[in-house]
Amino acid sequence: MEILSMLTSGSPPIDGDTIRSTAKSRISAGDVASCLCRVDRHTYLYALSKYCLDNSSRDELNALSIEYATTRQFSKQKSEPDDVVERLALASLCYSISPSRCSYCGGTGERTVDSKVVVCSVCNGSGNSDMSVRKLAEVLGIGRWRTKKVWMQRFQSLVSDYQIRDDALYLAIKQGLQDE
Ligand SMILES: [Zn+2]
Repeated sequence: MEILSMLTSGSPPIDGDTIRSTAKSRISAGDVASCLCRVDRHTYLYALSKYCLDNSSRDELNALSIEYATTRQFSKQKSEPDDVVERLALASLCYSISPSRCSYCGGTGERTVDSKVVVCSVCNGSGNSDMSVRKLAEVLGIGRWRTKKVWMQRFQSLVSDYQIRDDALYLAIKQGLQDE
């Protein structure tokens, strides 16, 4: 059921090369399901939320995200909210599922300068706008100085862990389709 909605309401991370390198002309729901069996539960649920807009397992995904952030054992000051690590976990999850677009390049990661296409210098080609210190401070409920000095790096570290999950998903789907 979850996989069916993946194929209809969103776009799984499959590009033309992946499809061309498989013998299949069409990828079925079952094909994608068998690929996703290769990744862990956290990554699987992340994929469902990210690519199919299926949020029915979102509570479990949120819990796994918090559990993961907790294992990183981030220290916190007494003045900071008790649930600051949970807030950080959910902020990094939300950002990874739907990053905001870079307003400089419009999310394409490229800009045309003197009729040449160059990598956008603001987002370095990612097309995403960075989380601002002000916004993260609001989400975490702590001051901007501590956010800038301490929590922003933690946020970025959790986001890059989701990028590793993105790579794992891409590989799992690509390899899964080629093995068929
Ligand atoms: Zn940009």
